Amino acid sequence: MKAQTKESQSALSQNQIIDLLKKGNLRFLENQTLSRNLQQQVEETSGGQFPFATVLSCIDSRIPVETIFDQGIGDLFSVRIAGNFVNDDILGSMEFACKLAGSKVLVVLGHTACGAVKGACDGAELGKLTGMLEKIKPAVKAVTNPVDAAQRTSANLDFVNEVAVKNVSFTIDDIRSGSEVLAEMENNGEIQIVGAMYEVATGKVAFL
Ligand SMILES: [Zn+2]
Repeated sequence: MKAQTKESQSALSQNQIIDLLKKGNLRFLENQTLSRNLQQQVEETSGGQFPFATVLSCIDSRIPVETIFDQGIGDLFSVRIAGNFVNDDILGSMEFACKLAGSKVLVVLGHTACGAVKGACDGAELGKLTGMLEKIKPAVKAVTNPVDAAQRTSANLDFVNEVAVKNVSFTIDDIRSGSEVLAEMENNGEIQIVGAMYEVATGKVAFL
């Protein structure tokens, strides 16, 4: 596998990129990942990087982004924060990735059994984590079922996972409303913003 070049990056369409990610996840699921000489890719990318996609995902150790999409050095920009939400610094990173470095697909990747989502559901409090979890609370509120407060905790995994899906969709809204650069690129068809969910029990990515 050769590392991406300016030419290979510009030749890929947005749909081809999403297809590359889907096929990479299938190879990962089937334990048929491609053989890569990573040191060769280090050398090939030493003069520059041309990643085709940007993935915003959680810090969760079970979701190493390049591994689950079977990609190599220089293929993906990877932004990771507990609960995969955005703030101005993350939006700035994404603007760099898309506007300046040519990435054409922006994936917001949530996951099942997310600890940050569980913490937001439970109203967990600890140091700086308290304020961080506030970013996920709108998604907790937006999932209206079940009504019974006793069922709206981390013990109810179905609820937690529904909140995680809602959080992906709110994060996409926040990207559009928070970054004029990315919103304009999307409106012009220069980038595609898509949501996806990773299932920690199986390794499967489902695009939403
Ligand atoms: Zn998580």
